[in-house]
Amino acid sequence: MKKVLYSATKPTGILTLGNYLGAIKNWLPLQDEYSCYFCVANLHAHTVELSASYVYDRTLQQLALFLACGLDPKKSVIYVQSQVKEHSELMWLLNCNTMMGEANRMTQYKDKVAKGVKSLSTALYTYPVLMAADILLYNSNVVPVGEDQVQHVELARDIANRFNHRFGETFVVPKAMVGKVGARIKGLLDPTTKMGKSDDDPNNVIFLTDSDEEITKKIKRAVTDSLNNIAYDEQNQPGVSNLLSIISACENVPIEEVVKSLNGQGYGALKKRATEAVISVVKPIREKFEYYMNNKDELLNIALLGAKKAQKVAIETINKAKSAMGLI
Ligand code: ATP
Ligand code: MG
Repeated sequence: MKKVLYSATKPTGILTLGNYLGAIKNWLPLQDEYSCYFCVANLHAHTVELSASYVYDRTLQQLALFLACGLDPKKSVIYVQSQVKEHSELMWLLNCNTMMGEANRMTQYKDKVAKGVKSLSTALYTYPVLMAADILLYNSNVVPVGEDQVQHVELARDIANRFNHRFGETFVVPKAMVGKVGARIKGLLDPTTKMGKSDDDPNNVIFLTDSDEEITKKIKRAVTDSLNNIAYDEQNQPGVSNLLSIISACENVPIEEVVKSLNGQGYGALKKRATEAVISVVKPIREKFEYYMNNKDELLNIALLGAKKAQKVAIETINKAKSAMGLI
């Protein structure tokens, strides 16, 4: 039996080149090795105040982008969280098995409180428990995450262990999979911070839906330096290094080879190469994305089929958990 891999991304923005090169691209081959679940975590989107139409649109766009990037509904279960009601149901059962101290330690909430942010929703406090429910529902063995998310997988492990100890063996205890990460892509205008889908400045980010013209323009504006020397040196040349990482990841060529091939050339040539490399990756994704957005019935149908497959497993888990807890 294949091990289960679980991954969820909340649809709070359009997926970026960073999401693709750093995460999704690396998940593609894992689809053969693991029994994979890829979730559009739309319930998580409402932990902050967003409009219904924003969440609806971003949910379908993210699903379309998952498919456009090559996540394959024939191999993996690709679904939208809100279509499997067992996520919310399990969350309550897990809430009963989560300590205040644990929730208090979760960074998102802790950081906001430390910054003195007022009017936080209780969802921002408890969403790590929903994440634990997401993961535990599918008997997940591994959860590929960035460093910033390891804490959440640890919480899922702690809750699973506590539940199993109190009520008998019920949940598979998951593990974070941190090693298999790809390139870390930085912002184009601020190459010292990571490129993120929730960035306020769209010129800092390449979205997987950007047109060739937008990509060209954004890379033209990307920050470099005045050294006029193409070398990989994150400390002293973060902008140039970021463009080199982008080229390397898009072309599947080691960074040293990219540097060698640009030897003696200027930043104009570097940017031209980066633009071509990015367009060669983004264009086919964007075209497939547009296909799905123009064929929403097909997209919604894929979502429904994915949700049905997910729910079959989710129902088994929730029934097991309820009966373990003495719930009729
Ligand atoms: P947000 O700005 O809302 O935090 P994000 O772009 O950081 O969005 P996440 O949903 O936090 O996206 O992360 C999804 C996956 O993409 C994670 O596995 C994360 O490690 C990866 N990822 C995100 N940004 C980058 C990046 N710039 N380079 C490499 N990997 C990235
Ligand atoms: Mg993030």
